[in-house]
Amino acid sequence: MNFEKLYKILEGQPKYRAQQAKDAIFKKLASNWSEASNLSKELKEKLNKECPLEIDGQIFASRDTKTTKALITLSDGLQIETVMLSHKDGRHTVCVSTQVGCSLACAFCATGKLGLKRSLEVGEMLEQVLFFSRILNTEGKRVSNVVFMGMGEPFLNYDKTLKTIHYLNEDLVIGARHISISTSGVIDGINKLANEKMQVNLAVSLHAPNDALRSELMPINKRFPLADLIKAVDKYIVKTGRRVMFEYLMIKGVNDSPAQAKQLVELMQKPLYMVNIIAYNPTDVFLPSDKQAIEKFINILEQAGVAVTQRYSFGQDIDAACGQLANKNKK
Ligand code: SAH
Ligand code: SF4
Repeated sequence: MNFEKLYKILEGQPKYRAQQAKDAIFKKLASNWSEASNLSKELKEKLNKECPLEIDGQIFASRDTKTTKALITLSDGLQIETVMLSHKDGRHTVCVSTQVGCSLACAFCATGKLGLKRSLEVGEMLEQVLFFSRILNTEGKRVSNVVFMGMGEPFLNYDKTLKTIHYLNEDLVIGARHISISTSGVIDGINKLANEKMQVNLAVSLHAPNDALRSELMPINKRFPLADLIKAVDKYIVKTGRRVMFEYLMIKGVNDSPAQAKQLVELMQKPLYMVNIIAYNPTDVFLPSDKQAIEKFINILEQAGVAVTQRYSFGQDIDAACGQLANKNKK
């Protein structure tokens, strides 16, 4: 969906026209302008030709029935992946990609292997959510949560990601509190977000408790080392008063020892810091930690008073779990 083009066309129209067009997209969840009954026939035809609402998405449903992946083909032929997680309590979370591929090359991540093709436009991020909104709408349901945890680094596409959040808020009525951004630790982005006066949730991918290991796993740590990252997060917390979630993957024999848990305690013993322990989805390089190792690790954190949650992942059978998005299902 090309938003820029849409607004250009609507510029020459009376103001209420723009609202009617937006209503068709976000309220009616139309997939063709012909459904926008209040627009003139002429305008509908023009819009259908120049900025069609169709989304070219192919669906992969997981056997676990909780995960649905969409492979979306963009207007230039590049493809991105978007995942919807359906929770028992009725929430539906869409995991949005912000870039095609990623430039940051984390050793454990399938997307990182692709390199960066390009960043996504606002319309291309919105259409990932709209794709699932339209499907849910037919069952009287809606997307309740959005996480920017798909392919790419949101803070390397900062302005467009924030603009997308604005539309999700205003037009799709998804509250900022139900929106999360995950960053690999791009400090400029954290600093900027601290000044936005927005209630979005910030998650930081940590995955290692010291610089040596973190630089090995996440090359971006050389540019933004731990001390600077922690300083930026502290500043963010002072400014916003909001909690920050540190994501920590459990990779067998790499970052899951009791000694590393103790190092992590040293970093995390602060108010409003939370650790989210994530099961590693095997790519071809590493293996997930054993259950016992994970339990022991979590125990050490809890004993020290660190707030810990655990995230199990689903959708592994369709390569739809975090860090597995790499367009394996190319048409
Ligand atoms: N680039 C951002 C957001 C996208 S990645 C970031 O790195 O935070 C979303 C999350 O998936 C991150 O926490 C990332 O570290 C994690 N991830 C990457 N590879 C994974 C894998 N193989 N298994 C589980 N999580 C993975
Ligand atoms: Fe990029 Fe995030 Fe994957 Fe690292 S984990 S390569 S930052 S998408």
